[in-house]
Amino acid sequence: MLVESIWLRYHLVMPADRLYRVIERLGYLLRTDIQRDRDGHGALQPAQRAALEYLARCNRLSNTPAAVTEFLQLTKGTVSQTLGVLARRGLVEKRRDGTDRRVVRLALTPAGRRVVAVRGRIWRRACEALDAKQIARAGALLEDVVRGAQRASATRSFGECHDCRMLGRERGGRYRCGLVDEPLSVAETRKICRQHAPLNRKSRPNRG
Ligand code: SF4
Repeated sequence: MLVESIWLRYHLVMPADRLYRVIERLGYLLRTDIQRDRDGHGALQPAQRAALEYLARCNRLSNTPAAVTEFLQLTKGTVSQTLGVLARRGLVEKRRDGTDRRVVRLALTPAGRRVVAVRGRIWRRACEALDAKQIARAGALLEDVVRGAQRASATRSFGECHDCRMLGRERGGRYRCGLVDEPLSVAETRKICRQHAPLNRKSRPNRG
């Protein structure tokens, strides 16, 4: 029994602790890295940078303040303030939806896209020390960890469209969203979506 418990601690708990510490340390280093001013727009707070990263990757079903709030897991007020700062700095623009004027749509400006394209020095140096296969393996592994954390916290997956179970593949290499019944370009299938339903998930997505 004692041997079994030591074995379990060594093989399951310890590696999990180690992984936690690694992720936590990496997160801290990256947060401090992005807070330094190297983009010509003044230092960005982590939430501001995260909102920019989200808007660079999200699709047209997901570019609203409500979706940013859900993705960042922050309060509505904090996100509203964050988006306000980004808009004043000329990194994000807000416009009314063409069909439903009550809905506000968000998009990066060219300056916002330039900020997102720049990675911090610490991150660039770290990646230079790895080869492409190591980076791909680490990316896949960490995606699994994130998916597990999302399942555990019962939050939306915000996954990429190409592995959503509502994505329809049509003749001629065309794609269609089964939720809103609209065509999607290949580029759009690489975007993240608030309504994404993982292929292995049984529940229906929330339309709200
Ligand atoms: S197929 Fe899924 S991920 Fe793609 S746009 Fe539709 S709901 Fe979103």
